[in-house]
Amino acid sequence: MKRFAVRRSTIHGKGVFALRPMFARERIVEYKGMVTSWSEAARYCAQRAEDGHTFLFGLADSRVIDGARGGNSARWFNHACIANCEAVEEGGRVFFEAKRTIRPGEELFIDYALELPKPWSRKTLAGYRCHCGAKRCRGTMLGVSS
Ligand SMILES: [Zn+2]
Repeated sequence: MKRFAVRRSTIHGKGVFALRPMFARERIVEYKGMVTSWSEAARYCAQRAEDGHTFLFGLADSRVIDGARGGNSARWFNHACIANCEAVEEGGRVFFEAKRTIRPGEELFIDYALELPKPWSRKTLAGYRCHCGAKRCRGTMLGVSS
């Protein structure tokens, strides 16, 4: 049975929705795509018109997976500052897992916290604005640790 479906999201563009209950730590999908550098991915993205969706996932070794190239439905997971799913990296591959029990019909979210190299231009910040609407929304999909 299919575990999730891609549908129109009330948060932003398309989103991924649970079709059946999921339990905490359940592995949902692998985030697939082309592994490349931030700078190459940024150049490639700049050449395309996107409807505000970004398909980049940062790896621990500072490379990224570009879900726009060779990606799967995992690229439609929207960002939320308080997410119900989390990414687990294993040997250069990234898997999305449920962080808690999820009910059928819930939209699935990841806190992308993208470690985009600085400096961030105004255009970059606009492109990574967060739409999650949480009370403690930090306003961006970018990681603000550093
Ligand atoms: Zn947010």
